[in-house]
Amino acid sequence: MYDLAIIGSGSAAFATAITASRKGASVIMVERGTVGGTCVNVGCIPSKALLAAAEARHVALDDRFPGIATDAQAVDMAALVAGKNDIVEMLRHEKYEELAGIYGFETTRPLTLTEHVLTRRTTSSRRGRRRGCRPLPGSTPSAISRRLPR
Ligand SMILES: Cc1cc2nc3c(=O)[nH]c(=O)nc-3n(C[C@H](O)[C@H](O)[C@H](O)COP(=O)(O)OP(=O)(O)OC[C@H]3O[C@@H](n4cnc5c(N)ncnc54)[C@H](O)[C@@H]3O)c2cc1C
Repeated sequence: MYDLAIIGSGSAAFATAITASRKGASVIMVERGTVGGTCVNVGCIPSKALLAAAEARHVALDDRFPGIATDAQAVDMAALVAGKNDIVEMLRHEKYEELAGIYGFETTRPLTLTEHVLTRRTTSSRRGRRRGCRPLPGSTPSAISRRLPR
């Protein structure tokens, strides 16, 4: 049913899905957690949002210039975290979820994969090559094992 099933939906998965889709492969992406993986949900984006906020407050309190009085109010942690969550949600939608539609691949949960894809994929691979479905360069088991450390 699909040329390529990708486990996970982080940055690496999306780069792979976009490249494969551009080459004409039909792709399904399987995510057990939140679409977007580490970077947008709990890594790069939320950490930089909080670091930028901390820097803004730090600069606001910096009183190194004579004659310039500085001040900053107490941190409203709930508001800060809500703002961070808004950024994460917006970027997850714009930079991940929307891309599946734009590039024409599907995202699903693991149970659906088991029901609709793996059986078919196993069946087709046991029967050998499907007409018109060539492996992506470097993706065959022998090509991958050649690159593994001995
Ligand atoms: C706090 C923090 C800050 C960071 N800041 C930066 C930064 O500034 N710059 C930078 O370059 N990198 C940063 N990183 C690192 C960056 O987030 C990761 O390198 C990157 O997200 C890895 O992407 P990935 O696609 O390989 O994996 P992930 O984004 O982790 O995606 C893996 C996905 O696979 C799913 N998955 C795993 N197993 C299965 C399974 N069996 N079935 C279904 N789904 C599965 C997971 O749920 C997850 O969604 C940061 C990381 C952290 C934690």
